[in-house]
Amino acid sequence: MKRFVRVVLVVAALAMVLTMVFACGGETGSPAGSGGSDGAGSTGSAGGSGNDGGSAGSGGSDSAAVPSSSGSAGSKDDQASGGKADAEDSKPDVGFTVESGVLIMATNAEFPPYEFWEGGKIVGIDAEIAGAIAEKLGLTLRIDDIDFDAIIPAVTAGRADMGMAGMTVTEERMENVDFSDSYAMGVQVIIVPNDSPIASVDDLFDENASFDIGVQEATTGDLYTTWDLEDEGLATIFRYKRGADAVQALIAGRVDCVVIDNEPAKAFVAMNTGLKILETEFAVEDYAIAFGKGNTALRYAVNGALVELIAEGTVGRIIDKYIGAD
Ligand code: GLN
Repeated sequence: MKRFVRVVLVVAALAMVLTMVFACGGETGSPAGSGGSDGAGSTGSAGGSGNDGGSAGSGGSDSAAVPSSSGSAGSKDDQASGGKADAEDSKPDVGFTVESGVLIMATNAEFPPYEFWEGGKIVGIDAEIAGAIAEKLGLTLRIDDIDFDAIIPAVTAGRADMGMAGMTVTEERMENVDFSDSYAMGVQVIIVPNDSPIASVDDLFDENASFDIGVQEATTGDLYTTWDLEDEGLATIFRYKRGADAVQALIAGRVDCVVIDNEPAKAFVAMNTGLKILETEFAVEDYAIAFGKGNTALRYAVNGALVELIAEGTVGRIIDKYIGAD
């Protein structure tokens, strides 16, 4: 039944790359656990410096520049018209970027271990993979920290080259953006207090259910619970700007559970006492990078870099560094 495990549409190519993640990504490979509840997140704090939910919309974003080893990638003109690069010329055709020589990544750095603030810097799996991609493409990475629901608008409006935020590939989003190949899997899980009457996802679907559910606004946790539960009269959804705020609401007893991605769930449960993650999953999904529609050259260039980084084991090493062996 789709309400139990909604497997989000994946283009056939994603399967191939995922296979490579498993094949090349080291022993632990993918971060997609089975929704386990060990709570052993190896992440640092989600410290909210400079971004504590105050900035409405996409204004006032924080940026973090991550210089890559090589210099600028040249003007977009010589790349746009160039077609295939010479065999001699190893510089990839990165096509259009908003600012020449710069790869602007829009994210919401409230999502450990994929992106979070640590020591005044945005770090995490996505930040490091993006840094490695930028380096391969000869670009300087700039990370803009904005609200999650502002990421796709930033990409479609040309304020950012790509959105990378543990972002799930969904059919609805594919109407507005194109996705890279997938580089990781996510699972929507349910966080409850240790003494919660909610024992499994089935309890949320009970015909008499009327739980208050906390989610991060505009995430797939929000979308699925809205469609599958609130629209069916089975729950009331409370939407927060940050997953951490939803978890604080849970601790304060303002909601009965939180539906959120498994790795941030583990990090939030590890940071707080009295919470656990239920064994049963709400949904299984693929994470990918979002690009403006039509920005095919950049998407292809990033996909090419991603394939190399997966094959070289870099993606696996980065994932292992932040998630470790579950
Ligand atoms: N994977 C979820 C989504 O894409 C949540 C992402 C996030 O909160 N950064 O909606």
